[in-house]
Amino acid sequence: MMEARSKAALRPPATDPARSAIMRAVKSTNTRPEMIVRSLAHRLGFRFRLHRKTLPGCPDLVFPTRRKAIFVNGCFWHGHDCKRGARAPKNNAAYWRAKIARNVTRDAQSNSALLADGWDVLTIWECEIKDLEGLAARLHAFLAGSPRSAAKRAGGLEDQQALNR
Ligand SMILES: [Zn+2]
Repeated sequence: MMEARSKAALRPPATDPARSAIMRAVKSTNTRPEMIVRSLAHRLGFRFRLHRKTLPGCPDLVFPTRRKAIFVNGCFWHGHDCKRGARAPKNNAAYWRAKIARNVTRDAQSNSALLADGWDVLTIWECEIKDLEGLAARLHAFLAGSPRSAAKRAGGLEDQQALNR
């Protein structure tokens, strides 16, 4: 994950090991919400790749032939406008606020870059995982829909690069 690349100077002070441990667990790559989305997509019959680092923002699920990408975002880490996203740690509040603000900015940049390159992007928030039926319907609609860039892709060379592993 890109978060791991943060400068050492920006690390939280070591005074709150419990909080640090929780944060590490929360941000681990294969978070539970992501596993649920994977499982649903798989059961819906769509094949995908994981964490394509060559794409902006390293989307969690990538459907290369459909040119669709899915991000599964933790509400806290990615500053979702919801109850969970509004949660503020008591310790090092300024640190976390700044870090989350950077994530939000980076997410917006990644989305723009993907869209500009003809990708369809779906962001699924952690708080949306509870409604599995609704989530499955959303996933299906997004994945089964025709690619936004279908017309543009006809004969496109750049797509060959995108499809390469
Ligand atoms: Zn949320």
